[in-house]
Amino acid sequence: PNVGDRDRLAKRFDEILDRVWFTNNGPMVQEFEQSLALRFAVRHVVAVCNATLGLEIATRAAGVEGEVIVPSFTFVATAHAIQWQGLTPVFADVDPSTHLIDVDSVESLITPRTTAILGVHAWGVGCETEALQRLAGRRGLTVMYDAAHAIGCTHRGRPFGSNGLAEVFSFHATKYVNSFEGGAIATNDDELAERIRHMVNFGFEGTDQVTSVGTNAKMSEISAAMGLTSLESEMSFARQNRLIWDAYDEHFSRIPGLSLYRFPVEETNSHQYVVVEVAEDCALTRDQIVAVLQAENCMARRYFFPGVHRMEPYASLAPMSARWLPATEALTHRVLTLPTGTAMSPDLVARVASVVASALENPAEVGSCVE
Ligand SMILES: *Cc1c(COP(=O)(O)O)cnc(C)c1O
Repeated sequence: PNVGDRDRLAKRFDEILDRVWFTNNGPMVQEFEQSLALRFAVRHVVAVCNATLGLEIATRAAGVEGEVIVPSFTFVATAHAIQWQGLTPVFADVDPSTHLIDVDSVESLITPRTTAILGVHAWGVGCETEALQRLAGRRGLTVMYDAAHAIGCTHRGRPFGSNGLAEVFSFHATKYVNSFEGGAIATNDDELAERIRHMVNFGFEGTDQVTSVGTNAKMSEISAAMGLTSLESEMSFARQNRLIWDAYDEHFSRIPGLSLYRFPVEETNSHQYVVVEVAEDCALTRDQIVAVLQAENCMARRYFFPGVHRMEPYASLAPMSARWLPATEALTHRVLTLPTGTAMSPDLVARVASVVASALENPAEVGSCVE
């Protein structure tokens, strides 16, 4: 995880303790929401305790019902946020080159029960927002985005935050900007923002008036303190991630069978995700490469493995969905992510690359010890 400026963080903790205001829309949360709204150039930002609840609340506040089309190539929370409400996530395929939800696949899955599309800006790269909006307009659907990866990134030259009806960000410890646990819902819709604010706080309007069912998704002051500190340190996170990404690029471009996922050159990306694709004809499989790296204490991950449609309850509820997800099926067997951030250095990247290169030079030997 990115730590940021410890002295600034400690000072903020002192302020919280001195003020004895720990939660319930305190000054740190308000400042965090305002900083985010400015950055995103969006009218409303509501901080929440995590992005999963943020997704549940945003879709619920928008009146989403029935079926919601989501990619399967995502973190499981995207689908769980829908299923948890008793709605049905329907899995769309992704574009094999961008890893983003495929608009034709979405269109083919629309039924009379479909009310919304929940796109995911995987790796901080924007979905085809215009095409999705046009499709949704024609079919009377709501479009929202899981923007958990997207802070510090741009889409069509602008920060994320105002695509679709709402976008939901995550500040989980592993994300680029973190608040230990946390998230935020961004929207330009005044009424939706109002409903979201009530839902986040038990349905309270004012101090003792409850006007609708709500939950508790409030962000605490201590989380907002970390979030603010993280935002202030962002330039150093960006520099570090770029340094590490460039080092991976330099070393991995020389290894046959492996390629780094490349971000659109015209956009800004946080480089928080170092995404590698293993070619079908590579000397080792993706799983073997990950096993080798993990055996060397390198936290490489299969991602997004095995694809949400192969996780429960989805695998049992819709056992046929793999049939219309060919790109997702391929990617979930070819993609891995590598460690980045302050824990990494260019020297360590060189060592990671040399482990992979020597494993690929001895495939038979590796194959005899890892599956
Ligand atoms: C991290 C993540 C989430 C969940 O965020 P939390 O804040 O941990 O609830 C949702 N979707 C994607 C794509 C993520 O990467």
